[in-house]
Amino acid sequence: MIPYGRQNISEADIDAVAAVLRSDFLTQGPAVPRFEEIVAARVGARHALAMNSATSALHVACLALGLGPGDLLWTSPITFVASSNSALYCGADVDFVDIEPDTCNMSVAALEEKLRAARASGRLPKVVMPVHFAGEPCDMAAIARLADEYGFRVIEDASHAIGSVCRGSPVGACAHSDITVFSFHPVKIVTTAEGGLATTNDPVLAQRMGLLRSHGVTRDPALMDGPSDGAWYYQQVALGFNYRMTDMAAALGASQMERLDAFVERRHERAARYDRLLAPLPVLLPVRDAANRSALHLYAVRLKDAPAPKRRAVFDHMRQAGIGVNVHYIPVHLQPHYRALGFRPGQFPVAEAYYRQAITLPLFPDLSDDDQDAVVAALAEALA
Ligand SMILES: *Cc1c(COP(=O)(O)O)cnc(C)c1O
Repeated sequence: MIPYGRQNISEADIDAVAAVLRSDFLTQGPAVPRFEEIVAARVGARHALAMNSATSALHVACLALGLGPGDLLWTSPITFVASSNSALYCGADVDFVDIEPDTCNMSVAALEEKLRAARASGRLPKVVMPVHFAGEPCDMAAIARLADEYGFRVIEDASHAIGSVCRGSPVGACAHSDITVFSFHPVKIVTTAEGGLATTNDPVLAQRMGLLRSHGVTRDPALMDGPSDGAWYYQQVALGFNYRMTDMAAALGASQMERLDAFVERRHERAARYDRLLAPLPVLLPVRDAANRSALHLYAVRLKDAPAPKRRAVFDHMRQAGIGVNVHYIPVHLQPHYRALGFRPGQFPVAEAYYRQAITLPLFPDLSDDDQDAVVAALAEALA
């Protein structure tokens, strides 16, 4: 089976992890701050906090912004469930903003319209979480203008987007947001096996996220309530979690970061080849804005004018042909857990229409010409 995504592991990656295993620290050692410095420098952020997953990082990002019961977070329905779940973990409520039909990113026009209605009804979101779908950056400048006007905070779910550039600004620089979160799951651009990381330019948010990822415990006298009892002393000053990244994971991430440009370059080269090979087929190809650079996490096509049963038949045919196609994503509001919260079909029609026709084709740096030709042949056959 040709998978839809696959990590690229080099001998240098293996050596980096083995070196940690031979060292004094498997966790809370020097590899984590080193990895954080590498990512912060790469994306141009002042602070970076590595965690054991993007899900954890999204959770503490929401908490750091004070999201809690009675508050509201809005995100895109075309995302992995972790985006909106992060608000539910905080006891907050979730709502969604429909997508742009071309990029599948949150529609700024729909956001503005929903904000106007929310102001009129007196329930504005505290946090808006745009998701850079497939690595294509959202229009962050426009979202930031709305954030100023309507007084919400912004967390970028950049799980697909390490290496992406939004109008000249690296995703993660937080040029138009409070916090950006990356995922390092093996199907993403760069991997630490499991892992995630939050960037911010705000020292207060960085400090809060740092506390929350490690039990809410501090050894910093400046953060303590009263004097220290001695050199052994620590205080728990908030209810945090154990969301720490291990040193093995961080060493793998640091080693992988050296190939970030090569990974993104190779993904572009493979995507351009797909664009050429798929041009004659009745599929809508992914849209890339020339003013941005996408890290190209996913290559998701849409079957033109095809009803949902057709997509299912194409999907099954391709799986039988050994092609690990996937669908990104089932609209989150249609998941049973969200339906139980009151969401229903028809609420986000652009997302739902996209879902009925979407198929993600394999895309990863080691995808060969032969693999790609097999994917295209299977798709052509399935569509015939
Ligand atoms: C992968 C992903 C996540 C979760 O990432 P983990 O590191 O697996 O927790 C969150 N949001 C989106 C959009 C993702 O693709």
